Amino acid sequence: MANPVDTDMHPDLPDTRLREDMTAFEAVNHYVERAGEIGDVSRAVLTRIRMPASELRVEVPVRRDDGEIATFVGYRVQHNSARGPYKGGIRYHPKADIDEVRALASLMTWKTAVVDVPFGGAKGGVQVDVGTLSPVEKERLTRAYTRAISSILGDHRDIPAPDMHTDAQTMAWIVDEYAQLQGWTPGVVTGKPIPLGGSHGREAATGRGCIVVLDELLHDQGRDPEEMTLAIQGFGNVGSWAARHAHDRGYRIVAVSDADRTLWCEAGLDIEALHRHTDEHGVLEGFEQGDHVDELASDDIVSAAVDVLLPAAIGGVVHPGNAADVRCSVIVEGANHPVTPVADAELADRGVTVIPDILANAGGVMTSYFEWVQNLQQLTWRRDDVLRRLDDGMRAAYRRVRDRAAVDGLAMRDAAYAVAVTKVCEATALRGTG
Ligand code: NAD
Repeated sequence: MANPVDTDMHPDLPDTRLREDMTAFEAVNHYVERAGEIGDVSRAVLTRIRMPASELRVEVPVRRDDGEIATFVGYRVQHNSARGPYKGGIRYHPKADIDEVRALASLMTWKTAVVDVPFGGAKGGVQVDVGTLSPVEKERLTRAYTRAISSILGDHRDIPAPDMHTDAQTMAWIVDEYAQLQGWTPGVVTGKPIPLGGSHGREAATGRGCIVVLDELLHDQGRDPEEMTLAIQGFGNVGSWAARHAHDRGYRIVAVSDADRTLWCEAGLDIEALHRHTDEHGVLEGFEQGDHVDELASDDIVSAAVDVLLPAAIGGVVHPGNAADVRCSVIVEGANHPVTPVADAELADRGVTVIPDILANAGGVMTSYFEWVQNLQQLTWRRDDVLRRLDDGMRAAYRRVRDRAAVDGLAMRDAAYAVAVTKVCEATALRGTG
């Protein structure tokens, strides 16, 4: 069956037929549909797990520093909890609309299943440009949003984490606001600062995990990291930590970008110096490394002449309009859904290997799981202990997907979805309809 629109079974199911103009949620469901066919799962169960279990839309009023009230729209989408509590980050971004948040919530369900952590999938978003907020306004926004969604959170119900434009400080405000309502509950949110029950290694985990799975792939392909050039789109949490770990592993990072520019250095960028620069200035602008660094347009990174491209910013950056310009042989999806389905098919035809988001960037949620376990047990693990568990877990997940791909002759994305969808369908069927 070729991706039918099952409106006879459910009036709101997204159209999953392969098209250039698919929304993010349609795109995720396109892959879920394909996985359902590969795994031969029950259509009734598949229909049930495609739509979010519940969606909360909230108005978030914030008092500006000048006394005016601004109101923002926020969401918390709970996609699936068959395998454990809902889990997923909170994003502050003007484009965090309901379709995007649904897509990200759904991706979390498949991601937690691929890496085998006992969580479901959820996501939160507030449609706001954080650049327009003062630090105090951002705190007020976070507290107001937390109050608005607090009734559906809980350390065994729904556990947020950081995503774009939210960080450990944002999580600290959430845990504090929740404590005022429900009592001290550190496991209600992950990605916290260490003094509030955060885990060593959490900040580095997503970027590091991307490089761990890339190492595994290159090993399978008989290629040496020290001979690989790498381009990283986005130099925030994921991109900057991926850069650091890749640099330590011997990769030559020749390009990095942010929303405004790409920096290119054939000899390899000085990653520690770049970290110091972005810690101080927040942007790549103004970085100097002798006279070897060229400045290109932000989007030029997609067509950089490198072995590996690691998108670590926003969704949909590799699309039918630029897929033909991609020159790398491997894409590691550090960001969520950076490659659209039509572009994905074109890249597959050209032999470009894509390590899919639900595997590549799952190191964050895996380490969030470690943080949650430490919170529930009131223990603290050492950093090297956390990183060893992370590396082992990511390697195991990579091998699960690789082996599934080999058995069924699949691309890695289809194999990852097949692993995840089969697991979630099984748990859903076992739990019954209640
Ligand atoms: P972040 O806010 O820390 O950093 C985002 C970076 O992307 C910034 O450097 C920003 O300048 C850059 N950027 C924004 N628009 C861009 C554009 N058009 N071109 C190039 N760069 C652009 O966010 P993050 O936490 O690093 O998340 C990045 C991506 O990784 C998101 O898709 C997120 O959903 C995904 N992700 C994050 C985590 C995590 O643990 N933080 C886990 C899994 C997936």
